[in-house]
Amino acid sequence: MTTPLIAGNWKMNGTLRSLTELKGIADAIKDGRTEGTDVVVCPPATMLSASRGILHNAAKVGGQDCHAEASGAHTGDVAAEMLKDVGATYVIVGHSERRADHGESDEMVRAKVEAAWRAKLTAIVCIGESQEERDEGRTLDRLGEQLAGSLPDGATADNLVVAYEPIWAIGTGRTATSDDVAEAHGFIRKTLSERFGGDTGSAIRILYGGSVKPDNAFDLLHTENVDGALVGGASLKAEDFIAICEAAA
Ligand code: 13P
Repeated sequence: MTTPLIAGNWKMNGTLRSLTELKGIADAIKDGRTEGTDVVVCPPATMLSASRGILHNAAKVGGQDCHAEASGAHTGDVAAEMLKDVGATYVIVGHSERRADHGESDEMVRAKVEAAWRAKLTAIVCIGESQEERDEGRTLDRLGEQLAGSLPDGATADNLVVAYEPIWAIGTGRTATSDDVAEAHGFIRKTLSERFGGDTGSAIRILYGGSVKPDNAFDLLHTENVDGALVGGASLKAEDFIAICEAAA
């Protein structure tokens, strides 16, 4: 039985003052409220070190992006090795906001996944279709392209998590229906199994992301082939985030 994973993506939100929310998350986990669920919080890079200190054994911390190279003349970028250095064990790669804001191609995402693995981080690789692609009936084709282009060979259940995040559901309050999610996740599972073998393909965790909230989490998290959630806005409030973690059990 796969242990569910709830990952919070704080995006470009949070200053050291937000550590009180993180303390709330850590306390709830220590009280046993999320038992049976793996929890990871991905705060901005500026807060990683302090977040790690607060969450220490309660939850893991992760970066929101990494550069493909280990070091060098790349002003403003953060290497996977640097994330590892401050205690991260996960890194989100290929989020649609980075694909859109920074022109990240599948090829670039794949190089970043390789960098994450080189630094011994688990990569949470995001894929998902736009509204236009969905309207044109191209959702599964698009997911297939992104999986083929963004994932290097050598994926395992320890080094890879896939997050299905339909772009039209991110930050909009609109979620995919359980049927839509089941179809997309079933396709992702089949694709992973064909490429990496049945045992690995069935063990890699596939998260759903896009307007996950305490009131819709249970249904989404109990849809076939959904092994957890990647939560944006609702991860900024300790109570909401913990309620979503509780819904996974
Ligand atoms: P929201 O939960 O705010 O829709 O964000 C989803 C997301 O992009 C997580 O990576």
